[in-house]
Amino acid sequence: MLTHCMEDYVETIYRLQVRKGYARVIDIADHLNVTPPAVTRMLGKLARRNLIVYEKYRGIALTSEGEAAGRFLLERHQLLNRLIEIIGLQDAAELVVEGIEHYINRDNLERIKKFLDLVERHPEVFKEVKSE
Ligand code: ZN
Repeated sequence: MLTHCMEDYVETIYRLQVRKGYARVIDIADHLNVTPPAVTRMLGKLARRNLIVYEKYRGIALTSEGEAAGRFLLERHQLLNRLIEIIGLQDAAELVVEGIEHYINRDNLERIKKFLDLVERHPEVFKEVKSE
C-alpha cells in the first residue's frame, strides 16, 4: 500500500511524463506545492519502493510498476472528476477529488466506472440532480 502522499507524487510524475515526456523535480514541486528538497526526499522513498528510477543528474523514470500505478491513479482522478461533474459539485471540486480519491480502490473504481457509463447513457435522469 502506498501512502496518500506517495500516491500524489506518483500521479503527478505520471501526468508530467504523459504531458511532457519527462518529470523534473522543479515541475513536481510546482505541481504539488511543495519544496524541491521535499520532492527529492520523496523520490528516494519511491525509488526504494521500486516505483521510479532516480538519478540525480539524469532525471526520473517510472518503473513498469510505477507506470502501472500512475496509470491507475490518473484514471481514478479523472473518473472522480467526471463523477463530481455529473453530481454538479461546484465549490472546490478539485479539492474534493484530491481528498476522496485516496479512499477509492480498484474495486470501487470499477463500480464508479459502471455508474458513469450508465449515467452517460441516460443523461436525462441526472439533469434533475444538477439543476436543483
Ligand atoms: Zn489526484
